[in-house]
Amino acid sequence: MSKEQQKRDFIREIIAEDLASGKHQTTVTRFPPEPNGYLHIGHAKAICLSFGIARENAATGARCHLRFDDTNPAKEDQEYVDSIIADVRWLGFDWGEHLYYASNYFDYFYECAVKLIEDGKAYVDEQSVEEVRAGRGNLTEPGAESPYRDRSREENLELFEKMKAGEVPDGKAVLRAKIDMASPNLNMRDPALYRIIHASHHNTGEAWCIYPMYDFAHPLEDAKEHITHSLCTLEFEDHRPLYDWVVRNCPVPAVPRQIEFSRLNLTYTVMSKRKLLQLVQEKHVSGWDDPRMPTLSGMRRRGYPPAAIRTFCEGVGITKFKGITDMAVLEHAVREVLNKTAPRRMAVLDPLKVVLVNYPEGGSEEVDVQNNPEDPEAGTRKLPLGRELWIEREDFEIDPPKKYFRLRPDGAVRLRGGYIIKHVGHVVDAVTGQVTEVHCEFLPGTIGENAPEGVVCKAAIHWVSAEQSRDAEVRLYDRLFTAEDPDGAEGGFLSCLNPDSLKVLQGVKLEPGLEAVEPGFLCQFERIGYFSADCVLHRPGEEPIFCQTIGLRDSWAKQKG
Ligand code: ATP
Ligand code: MG
Repeated sequence: MSKEQQKRDFIREIIAEDLASGKHQTTVTRFPPEPNGYLHIGHAKAICLSFGIARENAATGARCHLRFDDTNPAKEDQEYVDSIIADVRWLGFDWGEHLYYASNYFDYFYECAVKLIEDGKAYVDEQSVEEVRAGRGNLTEPGAESPYRDRSREENLELFEKMKAGEVPDGKAVLRAKIDMASPNLNMRDPALYRIIHASHHNTGEAWCIYPMYDFAHPLEDAKEHITHSLCTLEFEDHRPLYDWVVRNCPVPAVPRQIEFSRLNLTYTVMSKRKLLQLVQEKHVSGWDDPRMPTLSGMRRRGYPPAAIRTFCEGVGITKFKGITDMAVLEHAVREVLNKTAPRRMAVLDPLKVVLVNYPEGGSEEVDVQNNPEDPEAGTRKLPLGRELWIEREDFEIDPPKKYFRLRPDGAVRLRGGYIIKHVGHVVDAVTGQVTEVHCEFLPGTIGENAPEGVVCKAAIHWVSAEQSRDAEVRLYDRLFTAEDPDGAEGGFLSCLNPDSLKVLQGVKLEPGLEAVEPGFLCQFERIGYFSADCVLHRPGEEPIFCQTIGLRDSWAKQKG
């Protein structure tokens, strides 16, 4: 069996069978976001599935549509449309000419509704919203039939026309399907098909004041576009009989099939658009693209590579089992990609001055440093080295614990790519007790060479030239929530926001050159983590602003263990 076949999930099995049996000549799928928010990592799973299937079956002419399910004027906005287009592209998928808007089908939905009325399968109900709700019954009791259920066709047509003409206020009437008020499936108890909303729509403006319900519009959208397999998440499973009813009873050019799979849930975050919107509106984050958000735009800004997100989505698999995936799995996928692709650079986040006392005053030289020790083909770059350097404060300990191989009194350490240096003294601030300066001697001839006899050197630390470094701002990001399941938190999801999810460091010392990189440039700061020049805040030529993509190791794993 090929690798492809081995990882085939139940949906891919169904599609392969439909192609083999001749039921379909090709496969047409769609991704149908409602433009009422930005896409998140859960959507990425749906995108990778539907676009992935189209790509795998390209030889048969398969395709995947991007369709905006914009049938509710209340919450939708052009800003969301634009962001969704950018995000799907960024993830690496292409819909070719197949970009659609459900709002362009309003005439078709209306025709279908009229047809249902003519066939005696839909009626205008003038009960109040509360009365309709009360009449629905529940899982143990059947619903009650509306007093308006048996109106004549003519009366229904006339009333529906009035609704369309704007003569009926919001909430005063709905069009309902006439199915079965005693059905064990509540979705089949005369569901609403159309409601009145006097609001301007981002695409159709004032043209309509009646809008179709999702359950009515969605199957018609799929049918109109000749979708063969309409893939959605499990919460729509109980709606499938209604989906099929609409397809059966309306004039459709094709018969789509809905198949459900379980949605992606991730620990340490929330995924509902309502909650994400709340985080934005209440300014708990800087926007939808805040690097801590589970949105695709947040992940892009943070430096997550799209390939890592695709690998992650493939890895979680497609099943009907409800589960929750550990955030660490996504983070692992990000590290796997970046470890191979990210060039290495030097940055000192918490700088401590080192003076090489035997180095000539005013002297300097250039040393060759590997761009990526994991990848010899990445080559080397030249870094300036002089009498004064910055090293990380934690790389010097006056009173080190066992197995501390970095700089210590009378000890030696290697400057990565440079000399071995040996401690000869240090200055302590009398007031704060903090070390303010370390004095070392460099050992000539040790670049690229072993330590001379009698010198023990077991570690290499990162550094930058004090004279030629650049000051920068670095933003350290951590998970937005401290709880594994913020949705289930007793005090609500906001009660477990992580107060330390953003730390802004000033006066970080960068190797020269990093001030000139473009926004989005990503590298590994050696021994620290992956960082990218912030897409929004960083401007080439000005003081650099880097944002942390991810640390080198999972710092949450040890906390839990
Ligand atoms: P909400 O968050 O308000 O429930 P939604 O995520 O369902 O909204 P849509 O724009 O309707 O928003 O979603 C588009 C598609 O993405 C749907 O087909 C939906 O099934 C799928 N989708 C949404 N969330 C997830 C998820 N967590 N995992 C997998 N697929 C998802
Ligand atoms: Mg939805």
